[in-house]
Amino acid sequence: MVRPILRYGDQVLHRRADPVAAITPEIGPLIDDMVETLHDAKGIGLAAPQIGVSQRIFVIDLSVGRVPSELIVLINPEFIQRDGLQLVEEGCLSVPGIHATVARPAAVTIRGVDRHGTPRTIEGQGLLARAVQHEMDHLNGILFLDRLRPVQRFLLTRRARAQFRRPALAQ
Ligand code: ZN
Repeated sequence: MVRPILRYGDQVLHRRADPVAAITPEIGPLIDDMVETLHDAKGIGLAAPQIGVSQRIFVIDLSVGRVPSELIVLINPEFIQRDGLQLVEEGCLSVPGIHATVARPAAVTIRGVDRHGTPRTIEGQGLLARAVQHEMDHLNGILFLDRLRPVQRFLLTRRARAQFRRPALAQ
């Protein structure tokens, strides 16, 4: 089921998500919804708080639904390593229409468990490293606008809020 994606300003997006205590039968359908919602929105990553679930789960699919083996599902992820620096423009499904250049690690190694509770370690560079850091930020209540310099953040947040107030522009 495709779920509505919460937008900047919704409190769930701005607080730290809780660890998943156990792989219960509800986790599977939740992850299916996250993947469907991600593909419907044509995004490359989605964190559970973006659909209003304050739990430490994210999905990433750099193929945007084209290659099933590219789908990454990670529960309770934690960084093992972060190296380097990349500066690339990015956006967020919760802040539609706004893009900004954000400093991200160039390479990451991250571990967590998949939907079956099996431990997974993922190494990524470039776009994947950036997506992983972006989704991890969501689990910590941080949006990409929060990582910008104060002046730029002020201007873009003001624009984001003004845009969301106009219902006609709802996507
Ligand atoms: Zn995002």
